[in-house]
Amino acid sequence: MQRTLDLNRHKWEEIQHSLSSLTGLTLFIYDPSKHRPCTAITREHLLCHLVHQTERETLCQNAFAQQVDLAIQTQQISFSKCQANLNYFVIPIRLSNEMSYAMIGGKVYQHPDEYAHFKQNASEWGISSEKLPVDVDLSCPGAQEGLQQVASYLQVVATALLENIYRRGQYQGKAAHLTTLLNVGNQFKSVSNISILHSTLLNTLGILFNLKSACIFHQTKKQGAYRGVAVFGEKKERFNQLEASLDILFQKRSGGDPFVFNDVTFDLLKSKLPQDVTSCYLFPLYQGRNATSTLAIFDTILTSEETAMISSFCSQAGSAVENIELQNQLAEQRKIMIALSNLTLMIDSPLYLHHLHHNILEQTLQLLQAEQGSLMVLDEFKNELSVKAMKGINRPVYEMFNSKPGEGIAGSVYETGVPLLVQDLNHDPRVQQGAKPRYRTPSFVSVPLKLRNRTLGVINLADKITGEVFSEEDLQLLQAIGSYISIAIERSELYEKTEELKRISITDALTGLLNRRYFQERLTEEIERSRRHRIPVSLIIVDIDNFKGFNDTFGHLGGDEILVLLGQALRNYIRAIDVAARYGGEEFTIILPQTNKEDARIIAERLCREIERNETLQKKYSDLARLTVSVGLATFPDDAETFEELIRNADRALYQAKLQGKNRVITFDNGLFS
Ligand code: GH3
Ligand code: MG
Ligand code: MG
Repeated sequence: MQRTLDLNRHKWEEIQHSLSSLTGLTLFIYDPSKHRPCTAITREHLLCHLVHQTERETLCQNAFAQQVDLAIQTQQISFSKCQANLNYFVIPIRLSNEMSYAMIGGKVYQHPDEYAHFKQNASEWGISSEKLPVDVDLSCPGAQEGLQQVASYLQVVATALLENIYRRGQYQGKAAHLTTLLNVGNQFKSVSNISILHSTLLNTLGILFNLKSACIFHQTKKQGAYRGVAVFGEKKERFNQLEASLDILFQKRSGGDPFVFNDVTFDLLKSKLPQDVTSCYLFPLYQGRNATSTLAIFDTILTSEETAMISSFCSQAGSAVENIELQNQLAEQRKIMIALSNLTLMIDSPLYLHHLHHNILEQTLQLLQAEQGSLMVLDEFKNELSVKAMKGINRPVYEMFNSKPGEGIAGSVYETGVPLLVQDLNHDPRVQQGAKPRYRTPSFVSVPLKLRNRTLGVINLADKITGEVFSEEDLQLLQAIGSYISIAIERSELYEKTEELKRISITDALTGLLNRRYFQERLTEEIERSRRHRIPVSLIIVDIDNFKGFNDTFGHLGGDEILVLLGQALRNYIRAIDVAARYGGEEFTIILPQTNKEDARIIAERLCREIERNETLQKKYSDLARLTVSVGLATFPDDAETFEELIRNADRALYQAKLQGKNRVITFDNGLFS
């Protein structure tokens, strides 16, 4: 007796091909009685091809034979790794005529290490490394969803379809059809990918009912337009991706009933379809949140019994798709939760405003799945809404946005405090022609950021990633998070203001160095630390020589400029641990932590020389005289027991430096002034 597959090999190979291109996996059928494949190998992996040219080929065959035996004996799918570390499965298929086959498939890497390991050994096998791809593709559905799931789905579908091919030769029983549909339908619930489901549906029906041509149409975002998303049989190429405006016809079907065309309606439909279509049935598949799908069967005459069977199979598939959609929705909800919790985190840990604005916009765009957006905050000084963060908006649009309260779209949302949801800006009277933003899609939302009795700014979003329009729910969500955003912005504003005040309170306004008060605080701290760790700390006081004369010649402002330049010079000379401050007038202090007298003296001497050589400073002083400084140095604990004594003695050393002719460093040295 000829075996089932020998009779229908081409039919099987066609299904194998479409299953394989959907799962992205290698597939073939193996005949255990002959110990060899009995269909061509679809999507053979490049590495298998290379290995087959080597003597390792025999090892592959032996390994397959072993796995096939195992799978058939246990009647369980067996998973294994081949010698090239590719993951594959062997699915036992037992038909009701007791014939056993195995479907072998997979051949994927699920981890980069698996390939890296193979690459290391490839040269020993006689495969040169130039022939090998640099990286492996881990993106195919089989690798991502897990082979287990894909394999168990393939087992049911393949068994059902093979069984049917076999039975077709014997009898065309309704019972056989029903069993097949039931088996495949049961498997729907474990499928998590809509395109796999579509193709299972089409292939199963196509084979069972000998369909000439069939297609699943899916409603697109465009009103009334449908696109072919999965195809079976003849005219495949023409239906695939075919876009047609079928709305009127699709509306005709009621509830879940199939729609059979009469001559008039069919003529109407034909104008949208390839001209040689002779008949058509439409079966509603599902009506999810955003999409409606329909199965269309062409050029095949069905009995009423058959349409009933197909109808119920379609509704089974429909609930499976709804299930998948719900899961996707759940994943979306989870994303919303994460974005919300990120926003609340921002409130808890104040960020600098620049980062905060960008983070807020980024999170909000993600939350509402929008591509473009801007966050505008009122600049109270300019009385202007200024764009603090934006994404995807080009310059002219952005400039158009920078507006006064009351002007333009954002300006009026700000002023009125009323959010704006525009679904079609071309036909919305609230959007004036001139103010029309240049978005990719005609829909946008603009929401005021309110806090108590104050409006802080406006957040604008446009261009949904999906191409859809913004909905009322989107607006509500945006308004809800708007108050979080406002709180976060206000808190950060306060935080920045406090930080700024803190900075002002410790710095000297003219030179930007620390001020006297903060210097005293720091010196006290350093002395405490020095006491605890018994490490010396040195203090130098720097005073400009003959500064009065300079002031007399160039005026007080000219003098100030010198002070600024000297401040910069000091900042450049000191080490990271040192602390420079303006002590008052033209006197500066530098704390040198963890520095003994000898080292401090070297630093101070170098400082004197550097100032003498500093081009910028000397040019400022022109030819009148060179700018020099005198430095007094004292070290704790050598020269003082307290912080006041340390300052006093450094000052006395400075006085000595002046006495001894200026432009020099004098160390207190227990009153010896060296
Ligand atoms: P000496 O070499 O003895 O230090 O001579 P001197 O002229 O620098 O004398 P002294 O340090 O006693 O005088 C400080 C002068 O620095 C007095 C004042 O005119 C000037 N001065 C103090 N604070 C400022 C300031 O903030 N800006 C300007 N432009 N000048 C200041
Ligand atoms: Mg002075
Ligand atoms: Mg002076």
